[in-house]
Amino acid sequence: MGDVREERDVTRLPRDDRAGHGTGGSDAPCLPHLSHSGGVPESDWARAVELIRSADEIALACHVSPDGDALGSMLAAGLAMRALGKRVVASFGDRRFEVPRLLRFLPGQELLVEPARYPEAPALMITFDASTSARLGLLGDSAAKAAELIVVDHHPSNSGFGTMALIDPGAAATAMLVEELIDRLGVPLDRDIATGLYAGLVTDTGSFRHSSTSPAAHAMAARLVATGLRTDEIARELWDRSPFGYLKVLGAALERVHLEPEAAGGLGLVWTYVPRVDRAAYGLPYDEVEGMIDIVRRTDEAEVAIVLKEDDEGAWQVSTRSKGAVDVARVCAALGGGGHVRAAGFTSHRPVAETMADIRALLTPA
Ligand code: AMP
Ligand code: MN
Ligand code: MN
Repeated sequence: MGDVREERDVTRLPRDDRAGHGTGGSDAPCLPHLSHSGGVPESDWARAVELIRSADEIALACHVSPDGDALGSMLAAGLAMRALGKRVVASFGDRRFEVPRLLRFLPGQELLVEPARYPEAPALMITFDASTSARLGLLGDSAAKAAELIVVDHHPSNSGFGTMALIDPGAAATAMLVEELIDRLGVPLDRDIATGLYAGLVTDTGSFRHSSTSPAAHAMAARLVATGLRTDEIARELWDRSPFGYLKVLGAALERVHLEPEAAGGLGLVWTYVPRVDRAAYGLPYDEVEGMIDIVRRTDEAEVAIVLKEDDEGAWQVSTRSKGAVDVARVCAALGGGGHVRAAGFTSHRPVAETMADIRALLTPA
């Protein structure tokens, strides 16, 4: 009991104290300063806080086909702004507006509106985890017409859209920037807000396995978990359940997996694809196969892993991963997409064989 209370108290310390500086106690561990926001100038934080504080209505958007970081960050921010008394609408610009099954546990879904009901020219719009305005899909027009557009993101490839940016390429997740923004707005972290932030953090760090996992990421997790989160339930929702059909579709995709040891300058490529007819046979929605890359990328013999997934419109969503020696963000950017050095993607409207030929031609060690 005493231990629990002590833990909670730690989470209420100001950020700098949490990092272990000057908190007294000669046996206190000497931890580094855990700022998440190295890339954002103080003046930009101040301006963003001022814009939000003076707004009546705030329109939030995240990237299309939202992942845990996009939707979790946006809904956490939305709940915090609602706590400040703001009218908040939140959305993402997919033609078929549906929250992926694995993200339906996120609190704050009542803030969501369909793109058709989204303000055409918001006074203040804020985007989350979107590296370009194209990633806003149907909401791109609203972004273009917004009087003020704050871009909150952590993609090194961010194109610099918006009237102002809160961008830190060193942050493991957009959720880290949102945590800081919420602190600066003076809104206490409750369990609902923390759940969205935690979903973003664990999604983008691959449950603290990816190279982006920093001391700051773990410190943030400690603070979020202390609000009373059920990390076991969140993990199960995000990764450890699926309809039976997923096993069948996964089986078919693994049957046709290719290993090309000579690709990527001899570092190796492993790839497969998931046509929509496979999913249709089991009524499996597109978002159920988004995580398949995490199985394929384990291949020891390949530096680069790729899964091409045909969506319901017949476009191929291409997921690429590397182990660090190949910059897949560069490859995907050359093909109209983007992302991070080790995790990137793009959309292709061409047949699988042609898309793979394009990729092979671009795959060279960094
Ligand atoms: P995914 O393979 O869908 O998990 O995507 C990995 C990363 O690639 C994401 O975090 C995005 O940054 C980026 N990405 C994926 N698809 C696209 C796209 N169509 N355009 C730009 N970036 C993308
Ligand atoms: Mn994302
Ligand atoms: Mn992200």
